[in-house]
Amino acid sequence: MNLPAFSELRATFKASKRLLILLWRVDKWLFIGNAISVSVPAIVPFVNAYIYKLIIDLVVNVVSGLPFQYDQLYLLFAIRVGTLFIQDAAFSAQNYFEMLLWTKFPVHLYQSVLSKLANLDVQYFEDSSFKDKLEKVREAYAWRPLNMLSFLFYGYQSLLQFVIALAAIATLNWLLIFLFLLISIPTFVNQTNYAKITWGLWQQNSPYRKKFWYLSDLIQSGYSVKEIKIFQVASRFLSELQDIYNKFVKDNTKVARKQFRTNVALNLFGVAIYIGIEIFIILSAIARKISIGDISYFTTVLSSFQNAVNGLFRNGSSLFEAGLYVNEMFELLDTKPKVIQPDKGVKIKVDKPASIEFRNVSFSYPDSEQKVLDNFSLTIESGQKIALVGENGAGKTTLIKLLARFYDVDSGEILIDGNNLKQLDLPTWYKTLGILFQDFIRYEYPLKDNIYFGKIYEPENIKDIINAAKLSGADSVASQLPKGYNQMLGKTFEGGLDISAGQWQKVALARAFLKDAPILILDEPTASIDPKAESEIFERVENLSEDKTVIIISHRFSTVRNADKIYLIDKGKIKEEGSHEELMKQEGTYATLFNLQAKRYK
Ligand code: ADP
Repeated sequence: MNLPAFSELRATFKASKRLLILLWRVDKWLFIGNAISVSVPAIVPFVNAYIYKLIIDLVVNVVSGLPFQYDQLYLLFAIRVGTLFIQDAAFSAQNYFEMLLWTKFPVHLYQSVLSKLANLDVQYFEDSSFKDKLEKVREAYAWRPLNMLSFLFYGYQSLLQFVIALAAIATLNWLLIFLFLLISIPTFVNQTNYAKITWGLWQQNSPYRKKFWYLSDLIQSGYSVKEIKIFQVASRFLSELQDIYNKFVKDNTKVARKQFRTNVALNLFGVAIYIGIEIFIILSAIARKISIGDISYFTTVLSSFQNAVNGLFRNGSSLFEAGLYVNEMFELLDTKPKVIQPDKGVKIKVDKPASIEFRNVSFSYPDSEQKVLDNFSLTIESGQKIALVGENGAGKTTLIKLLARFYDVDSGEILIDGNNLKQLDLPTWYKTLGILFQDFIRYEYPLKDNIYFGKIYEPENIKDIINAAKLSGADSVASQLPKGYNQMLGKTFEGGLDISAGQWQKVALARAFLKDAPILILDEPTASIDPKAESEIFERVENLSEDKTVIIISHRFSTVRNADKIYLIDKGKIKEEGSHEELMKQEGTYATLFNLQAKRYK
């Protein structure tokens, strides 16, 4: 039996303190209500037991031939009615406040965790150890802290009961205190240790749980059903799920068995002491050291004590277990941003595209040895239209992520109108960037909102939305939908319709166009759109963006041929650069690839 590490106990203590402070801040009446309503049921049973003792002693007096004192009896019963009523009322209040707690507090937790996640750097979401942590917190953050609060309040109730019972028992014989403490300690340690083991298992199993959720999502979600059917992979996934499940069952059974054995031994020990004290009480009465009423009183104190001890163990170990989870939640809430923004950032002009310069930039992703960019330099003048082409994995998207400061460069600089990107006020910088990422969002919202989200910080203007849709071809999507711009998209919500990949892309493009940012960056914007529609879109983009800087990443060489300058990126370096004509003349890789693609389209 090993004791929980001091650091873990301290962590639980810290989490408890923080959680209670949080509850106090969210709603102090809820805190006070819970605290009072759990205190009363801890105190009243002792008062009741004492009154009952007085009543029995009155009866015993009569039986022994003394005159019956009716006044005292009435008074005692009146008090008894009062205390029983208070106790019942406290139970009702306890339910009421607990329900309020479970209604009010989760909203706050959701808000805190989700707003934290919404504000965390993109790089966290590309980091698998952070994702592990997030997975753990995600499973439990809405209910574990509430559980913990319950354990705290009920633990406090048991503690109060424990202390009162100890004091009451001490009036019989103070040595009895030690007997009880004796049985308390090993059980407490056992329970706490159990919590630690289950927590250890949970942590250790984290990769399996991740796999479990991944596989169940894969089977449950609609997007993968087509492939799963055709490739007939379901049985493989199901058997993997079963294996993981078997492992969970085996591990947990092992812990439960171990705990069962220790518990049985400890219970035996506890019962022996309990009976010993009962005998002590009876013997004290026979020796006339205490009254007959006292037998009832001390027996009640004894069973209350036993209840309190059980409650303390149960709540204590559950508290410890919950504390470990809740700590993870607090750790997540304490996650510091990695991209540090300057206190007073440079606010660049938002009405005109800034010039962009990558100067000797080198970059590797965290936890990766591979240099994605190695001493990379590239200048984009204000209003220039450039294209980045190159194989998958060449580093094109990484350039955009660096430009959006999702990551900081390892060395070198990115200069925006001559200012280091690290000195810029990011919200202003983002206002000037309209980026359509490859993995854009398909919002399950009406078509109109899907576009409007591009300019959410301004009031909705349907005219602008339709103009943007016309530019991207989403207008023709709207005309094919029964409810036009008000058509709910996606299959999740009632009345929703799914649209094709190319149509989604047009909607996403419209969103980027609506933003009307001076710098427009499109990463594979037309991968799912047919070449004819694509060339129409780009014609319109060129007209739209005379004074804008445009950066297009594409695999399709026809998409980029009109760019002022085309950069062929290879393994994080510029291999060839120039206009389409210049590059064709060079007869290098660009020319070879262009001819290869052109042949396919002929
Ligand atoms: P491209 O856009 O040219 O296809 P990327 O910029 O996406 O290429 O990727 C460049 C390289 O960086 C690839 O080798 C890729 O595996 C790696 N990479 C991309 N994203 C990450 C990431 N989040 N963590 C680690 N490596 C990454």
